[in-house]
Amino acid sequence: MENRRNLFFFYGDDKATLIEKMKPVYDILKENGFTILDHPQHANAIVSVGDDGTFLQAVNKTGFREDCLYAGVSATDDISFYCDFHIDHVDSALQEITKNEIEVRRYPTIQVTVDHDTSFHCLNEFSLRSSVIKTFVLDVYIDDLYFETFRGDGLVVSTPTGSTAYNKSLSGAVVDPLIPCFQVSELASLNNNTYRTLGSPFILSNDRTLTLKLTHNDKDYPVMGMDNEALSIKQVEKAVVRLSDKQIKTVKLKNNSFWEKVQRTFL
Ligand code: NAP
Repeated sequence: MENRRNLFFFYGDDKATLIEKMKPVYDILKENGFTILDHPQHANAIVSVGDDGTFLQAVNKTGFREDCLYAGVSATDDISFYCDFHIDHVDSALQEITKNEIEVRRYPTIQVTVDHDTSFHCLNEFSLRSSVIKTFVLDVYIDDLYFETFRGDGLVVSTPTGSTAYNKSLSGAVVDPLIPCFQVSELASLNNNTYRTLGSPFILSNDRTLTLKLTHNDKDYPVMGMDNEALSIKQVEKAVVRLSDKQIKTVKLKNNSFWEKVQRTFL
């Protein structure tokens, strides 16, 4: 019988390149009793090969699985945020992993429900943006409290690991993923005597609910993004965001804490 802990699935944008480039890694894995699957369904380790964008896609396309470990292998010049391994050094890293006890790191995700019937998870962020050249307006509620009315280009709601992505470009804070929370940052809010928003990013705890209610104007459909994928829904009345119970598990390597990644990437 196959060992339930030894089933690997590799996710990459280009299958042929994936097989060719990862051949030495596949060989090491097979020598150590691991099986490489063609489908993620029964895998207990899902490895993305590419960049952060590929990792986000791997997690999304495999359904934010909690019963397996995710790992990112960078196939670009640098190792990026979700990629703890580089394609040129992955064989030595694997040998290390197979010899030692691996430590698991957990990344919080957010759950978004759009108009009661569509629900999905995001690992980086949920973004809601005007799709036209004009501003759009939405009411922001924290739990049952009406908080503010936003007018501008849009809002970005990010997870702690997403805090170093889109959120950071909007001057949001970089948040330690050990803190269970999510952050709201503005895209060009229009502030005047009629419309006023807080004007700075704010962080909500894991037992808060954020509700974004659109003031209705049939012509101005917003664009909604779940990480690097656009949602196909055109019309939306409200989006409700909470921190999800689902967490993404990844392999934690030595000298590769979140803050070491922040330092490596930005400093
Ligand atoms: P992309 O537009 O091709 O690349 C966006 C950049 O963000 C890439 O350099 C990517 O790294 C990096 N990145 C992604 N997730 C990150 C994270 N958690 N921390 C630090 N850097 C991160 O799109 P993509 O590669 O598919 O990534 C999608 C993400 O791009 C979205 O989730 C959003 O966060 C971000 N984004 C940012 C802006 C902005 O800053 N103005 C606008 C739109 C989207 P890699 O090169 O390793 O992929």
